[in-house]
Amino acid sequence: MTNKELQQAYKYYNKRFFRDQLPKGLLVRFGRLPFDTMGWTWFEVDKPVCIMVNKLMKRVLLEKTALITLLHEMVHAKLGIKVNCNGVRNSRAHKQEIARLMNAGAYTKLL
Ligand SMILES: [Zn+2]
Repeated sequence: MTNKELQQAYKYYNKRFFRDQLPKGLLVRFGRLPFDTMGWTWFEVDKPVCIMVNKLMKRVLLEKTALITLLHEMVHAKLGIKVNCNGVRNSRAHKQEIARLMNAGAYTKLL
């Protein structure tokens, strides 16, 4: 999977599952992250500016994992810097948003 394909997936998911609420100019790229980190979303103050997916997932058979990671990071981009995805505190909103995406069919072809 290429950076271009990942960026196109972002555009598609944004339109199809986020009502185009996320920034159109947000940069989506594969990149070097710690080996145990699947993805990361960067914010400038409280505005999401970049989603990075660990480049270890560029491999052909890991395409679905890359897209699942992208959706996870898009939820971070939507909910903002104060919402966590793990731990007890502040993770509820993230879990609810993932559930919404599941119900909307975002994962139908990925799982
Ligand atoms: Zn997360």
